[in-house]
Amino acid sequence: MLDRLQFDNRYARLPEAFYTRVQPTPRAGTRVLDVSPGCAARLGLEGLEPLDDQLRALMAGQWVPEGAEPLAQKYTGHQFGAYNPALGDGRGLLLGEVDTPSGPMDLHLKGAGRTPYSRFGDGQAVLRSSVREYLASEAMAGLGIPTTHALAVAINDERVPRERVEPGATLLRVAESHVRFGHFEWLGLSGQTEALKQLADHVIDRHRPWLKNVDAPYAALFADVVERTAHLVADWQAYGFVHAVMNTDNMSILGLTIDYGPYAFLDAYVADRVPNRTDAQGRYAFDQQPGVALWNLVRLAQSLVSLVDKSTLEAELGRFEGHLQARFGDTMRARFGLETFEDEDSELCRQWLDLLGDQQLDYHRSFRALCAYDDTLAGREALLDVLGDTEAARAFLARYDQRLGREHRAVEARQAAMRQCNPYYVLRLHHARSVIEAAEQGDVGPLKEYRACLSAPFEPRETHGAWHLPPEAGAQEITLSCSS
Ligand code: AMP
Ligand code: MG
Ligand code: MG
Repeated sequence: MLDRLQFDNRYARLPEAFYTRVQPTPRAGTRVLDVSPGCAARLGLEGLEPLDDQLRALMAGQWVPEGAEPLAQKYTGHQFGAYNPALGDGRGLLLGEVDTPSGPMDLHLKGAGRTPYSRFGDGQAVLRSSVREYLASEAMAGLGIPTTHALAVAINDERVPRERVEPGATLLRVAESHVRFGHFEWLGLSGQTEALKQLADHVIDRHRPWLKNVDAPYAALFADVVERTAHLVADWQAYGFVHAVMNTDNMSILGLTIDYGPYAFLDAYVADRVPNRTDAQGRYAFDQQPGVALWNLVRLAQSLVSLVDKSTLEAELGRFEGHLQARFGDTMRARFGLETFEDEDSELCRQWLDLLGDQQLDYHRSFRALCAYDDTLAGREALLDVLGDTEAARAFLARYDQRLGREHRAVEARQAAMRQCNPYYVLRLHHARSVIEAAEQGDVGPLKEYRACLSAPFEPRETHGAWHLPPEAGAQEITLSCSS
């Protein structure tokens, strides 16, 4: 079915230094485990099945469609605060771009083998981390948060040494673009101003064509990145997502979630959660993300000083916080079922988060419980069952009752609207782990079922697994390493 896609690769027409042409390494024994119907639909490939021969061949590195010109992109970046000039696609290849009903999309094969930017890496991806990325991008898309989106995940016969010897895998990733802050840092920080312009023009031409005719296109592009990055991080904060490796090479120039590594969604509300056990300083803790995003934008600004004057860059950076707060406030108001705006809503939100944090309550279940709330006695009791009948919970409810009293919507309408933005299913690490264990044993049923739940997370469905449940009380928090 993939031969329906028209491949092109405009990135391959940029100067040769921008990339290295690399053919994917063939992987014996490749079997596609699952295809995301939602992602397939974005490509106009409705009905694409794991058994599709071309999909298998593509993910096995055994077939390169006509017009695709596989290449590894060059970029650099700040990793944990330190500049690393030696980065680039070390195990993923941009296969090319395709025209889709929603515009041009990159197809990127992760686990495609070594490249000149692999450094000490083996160019492999393992099943564990590939399934984690597959599920996470599905969950993000299901929540409506901008993200790269995995079309399919495949296992192969490679035996890859990581924390243990693990099955090899490939992941076929779809995104409007794979250009990162790091692409700009590479050219900007090494003084390659002409090439930097070409890169900016490429991004504008391909993704932001309406900026071509404004007075200062590069300044407008930067303003766009600031706003979208602020919105992205606001969404992460609102839905309890910890990216965990917010290096500048993992920041998308389009404000997409990219590079799923040791990420986590919160279970209990722990504001300083650090799922990456190699992040000893907690640089990328959940509550640090807004500050880190701004720090990363400053790095991007520094790489653009030859194209945009400094005062403009500074002014745009100054808008970050406002963009972030506005988006976060809107999303949280919707999650609380509020249609009107009041200045004190941020206080209500703060009180709620303090309550969840103090009692270590599950972030998502607590919100979902709020969806069923009404101010009858039974409604109060049901909610206090979840929140705990504490003074803090009662104080919150008193405030919430007052606030709801100033809204105009009927209770049922509010509850229905809340169920559309407070997910019933959330990507939980303990569920991901059981899905991965089953897939490694050859059972893809749980993977498919959990993926389906995450892709439409607001509606309960009939399932074999109890995918809506948080980890058992007292279960040890799962941490992850960068090794993937
Ligand atoms: P990440 O931590 O995923 O952002 O990766 C940082 C850099 O290491 C990027 O340039 C990756 O392409 C590269 N990399 C990560 N894992 C591997 C691997 N197994 N083989 C080769 N390069 C890798
Ligand atoms: Mg990366
Ligand atoms: Mg990665």
